[in-house]
Amino acid sequence: MSIFVALAEVFSPIRCAGCDLPGAVLCPACAGELPLIDARCSCRRCGADCGRRECGECRDRDFAFTRAVCAGRLEPPLSRLITVHKDAGERRYAAALGELLLSACEPWRGWPDAVSAIPPSREALARRGFDHTRVLANTVATGLGIPVVSLLGVARRQDQRALTREQRFANMQGSFHLQPGAQPRGRILLVDDVFTTGATLDGAARVLLAAGADEVRVAAVARA
Ligand SMILES: [Zn+2]
Ligand SMILES: [Zn+2]
Repeated sequence: MSIFVALAEVFSPIRCAGCDLPGAVLCPACAGELPLIDARCSCRRCGADCGRRECGECRDRDFAFTRAVCAGRLEPPLSRLITVHKDAGERRYAAALGELLLSACEPWRGWPDAVSAIPPSREALARRGFDHTRVLANTVATGLGIPVVSLLGVARRQDQRALTREQRFANMQGSFHLQPGAQPRGRILLVDDVFTTGATLDGAARVLLAAGADEVRVAAVARA
């Protein structure tokens, strides 16, 4: 344990993201309540917890990525774990979220050549002070024994939160660019914290495929 972590534990002990009890990132009771998605009965195209291998909506969808997996539903205590990780400047929750994402990706072990993360916008990075998705990608890459690569930059992105589903897909056209010198090759596992409509991951996957990637699959911690 580093001196900084030790001091943080003394002055601000870690609290359960579910019930606020001190002592752990998630207490055993809240960990038992995590709304996890069983990959065997979720949509293989969008990761939705629909009880089937293809949800009704995916029949008319044309995602650029071939498969999607999500660790859980965006409900408490998982939703709160993501919020404190991302918006409270609290980095001690990153390992727990990274491990959840890694378990969701476990069935794909041996498939990807590299892991890449959805990059934050410049404003979000400045506000949070760290790249909240890259830390999750690092855990997944280490667990799968493959490299994590920086491939994408944010060209232009309007805040997605107030947009409809159609507007989100339109907003994502041209919103990512390839990092200078980046050469996406082979099979790429693209990760994000939350899968809402799939527009962000779809926009990013299109850039990677156009630049030479063979196939892109996506993984998110939570499915909205
Ligand atoms: Zn708890
Ligand atoms: Zn689906």
